[in-house]
Amino acid sequence: MANKKKAKPPAKRYYRKRVELFRLIEKIKLWPSRRGLLHGIKTIDAIGDQARVTTHCNKTVIITNSRNSRAARWLRNKWFKGICRDCRVPDWKLAKYSSTHFRRHYGSALIGEPKH
Ligand SMILES: [Zn+2]
Repeated sequence: MANKKKAKPPAKRYYRKRVELFRLIEKIKLWPSRRGLLHGIKTIDAIGDQARVTTHCNKTVIITNSRNSRAARWLRNKWFKGICRDCRVPDWKLAKYSSTHFRRHYGSALIGEPKH
């Protein structure tokens, strides 16, 4: 009956800086637009090395799976000016994102099998 709020801070997670862009956005479901707004991702349709990303505000972008693309860098560096209001990105998702860290030599590459 009591409306208990789970205010547990999300666990810190670490990803590799060289993580593939597709794997990364599949995981965090956020997309930084060129204008600096962070959108929520509704769907990702990968077609080979390209993918069509549809945001919750129904914008569609075609992206390539590059670790060095603008979006990949912006996501890693958490560069954004604001959050898209139409996407209604939930707070927990933003909290999860802000507790995500990118390291060069440490963290998951988000690949099923760890490579050595
Ligand atoms: Zn949006």
